[in-house]
Formats: sequence, structure tokens, C-alpha cells
Amino acid sequence: MVLAVFAEEEKWGKELLAGARALAPGLKGGKVLFLNIGPDGARKDPAALLSAGADEVIDVALPLKAFKVEEYTDAVVAAVAGCDLKLLLVPATKNGRDVAARVAQRLQVGCSTDTVALRASHGSLEVDRAVLGGSALATLRFAKLPAVATVPSGVFEPKGGHQGTAKRTMEVTTDARNAAIIGIAPQAAGGVRLEDAKVVVAAGRGLKKKEDLKLCDALAAAVGGEVGCTRPLSADLKWLSESHWIGLSGKRVRPKLYFAVGVSGQIQHVAGMRDSGTIVAINKDPDCPMFSNTDYGLVGDLYEIVPALVAAITAAKGR
Ligand SMILES: Cc1cc2nc3c(=O)[nH]c(=O)nc-3n(C[C@H](O)[C@H](O)[C@H](O)COP(=O)(O)OP(=O)(O)OC[C@H]3O[C@@H](n4cnc5c(N)ncnc54)[C@H](O)[C@@H]3O)c2cc1C
Repeated sequence: MVLAVFAEEEKWGKELLAGARALAPGLKGGKVLFLNIGPDGARKDPAALLSAGADEVIDVALPLKAFKVEEYTDAVVAAVAGCDLKLLLVPATKNGRDVAARVAQRLQVGCSTDTVALRASHGSLEVDRAVLGGSALATLRFAKLPAVATVPSGVFEPKGGHQGTAKRTMEVTTDARNAAIIGIAPQAAGGVRLEDAKVVVAAGRGLKKKEDLKLCDALAAAVGGEVGCTRPLSADLKWLSESHWIGLSGKRVRPKLYFAVGVSGQIQHVAGMRDSGTIVAINKDPDCPMFSNTDYGLVGDLYEIVPALVAAITAAKGR
């Protein structure tokens, strides 16, 4: 009986390994595998994964320049073939969702996407996943296992100290494909790793124009944070890249301190930041939904409040 984790990023792999270890007893699972798949130079350090919860790391080298879903799907399916798989955990990233859905289809098993909680007992698995645009949580029980689940970052806390030791190299032949990577261009500048930020300043549509983002930049600089945003600022207005987008369909963050600047607090946004430590909202509408999710609500015009806040923080730091 096996639980397996596939993740492109080591940080995410460690979180899911902690999750697999926590779920293993309830699923009557024995071994936890990490599927270390990717081109040369992109695979992770097995020692770190063995300590984070893997009993065995299966190394699959792919002759690719970068991620390509068909070959990764082949590799995951080949790596779990023949083992008595109970559960495959995959990060709820763009690539992860793509691989998970295809693997579930190939294995003819159920797949839960955006799984925010997993509970295992007596060999069965129950999950909570966001539905109806994030306005509700659905609880599902898998009628049979194995199952595949994509899990957003932050659901499990990574742990160390496990003493896994086994490493195996596996050769996977992938079928000839209809598409090939013919070039790779660097992503536009401005990428940000909000998942790791201790403080996040989220900009919303309360800002009137792109240049006004400098207010949020100034607040972020004053408090040592990173700027994020709501979906409209990234998806519709293109003021910030996708890596800044927080929420159900964006990134899930849980910094120690979260500022919502001109953010109305729709459920789809809140789904991505509700686990933050202290939440401060600045909004001119005292009835906006964001205020029901905040520790401190500042009612007023962000164009007055943010500069005053920055000045006060800067002055306090100078004392
Ligand atoms: C399937 C689906 C998935 C989605 N996923 C996401 C997601 O991942 N992330 C996400 O963010 N959204 C998501 N959305 C969109 C979401 O429903 C909201 O539309 C969006 O979050 C609203 O963004 P906003 O708060 O910036 O804008 P608005 O809702 O327009 O709010 C702007 C706020 O600014 C305030 N304001 C205006 N001027 C000022 C001022 N001068 N000073 C102070 N306050 C001011 C207003 O009172 C208002 O509350 C999704 C929607 C769907 C249907």
C-alpha cells in the first residue's frame, strides 16, 4: 500500500510529503514515495525529500528542456504502475492540475482538485474542496481508492527528521508526441514568490490607475512585504503579472500580516488569504465584505490612508 507525491518544486513536495505521512495510517498505507521527475538539472535533492517524509525517491530523468504535460503524465503513470497505490498528491499549480487530471484519467480513478482538507480513516478518504467559485466547500468521500488530489500550498506544514533511505532510478519511455518544445523565453520581469512572503500588501480595484500601485509599493517597502493583487488587476487590467494574483484561482498565501488595499473581499479573493495572521483592510465602504474578515479595518480613502500609514511607519522606524 503506497501513497505517492509528485511535485515540481521542492518546497511544495515537502508540504505534500508531510500530508502523505499524516494520511498514511488512516489509509492503511505503508510506504510514501516521492516521484522525482524532470529533466537533468531540474530534479530535486533526494536527501531533502527523504528527510521530509519520503520512504523512497524514484528518480525519472526526462529528455525535455522544460515541463511538458504529456511526458510528465507518462512518467507519473509509469512510476506508480504495479504498486498498490492509495493516493497521489499533486500541488494545485497550473502544471500540477494538468498532470493530476490526466493521470487520474489514465488510471481511471477519481480526482479532487483544489483540495483544502483531507481526512483518512479505516482505509477511506474524505476531502473538502472549494466549489461554486469558492463560495462553498463540498465534502466528498471517495467510493474507492486510489485517488488523486491536487492540494494548494499551505494545507500541510513541511516536517523534517524522517529517515527514508531508498532511492531508485527509473527509465521511462514516452511515446512520440504531437508537440515539441521548440524554444523557451524568460518570463516577463516582475515575478514574485508571495507564498514565502511574511507580509503581503494586496492591491484591489480601489486603485484608479496603474501608476497608483506605487502607493502599495511604498507600503510594502515600509513593512518589508511583497505586493500582491486581486484577480481584476492581473487578469483584466494586466497591471501586475499572474504571479501576484491571490485567491481561489490564483495563489494561496498566509503571511503573518496581510494588507487589503481597496479590495472588496469577495469570497474568491478571501479563499486565497483567509489563513493570514493579522489582516488589515483599507476601504472607503464600511459595509464591504472584506471588513468581516479583518482584524483591523480602516474606513476611508486609500489615497489618504496609505500615505499616512507609510509616513507613520517610517517615522516609528526612525525613532
Ligand atoms: C470562478 C471565479 C474565480 C475567481 N478567482 C478570483 C481570485 O482568485 N482572486 C480574486 O481576487 N478574485 C477572483 N475572482 C473575482 C472576484 O469575484 C472579485 O470580482 C474580485 O476579487 C474583486 O476584486 P477587487 O476587490 O479588486 O475589486 P472590487 O470588487 O471592484 O472592489 C474594489 C473595492 O475598492 C473599494 N474602493 C474604491 N475606491 C476606494 C478608495 N479610494 N479608497 C478605499 N477603497 C476604495 C471599494 O469600496 C470596493 O470595495 C474570481 C471570480 C470567479 C467567478
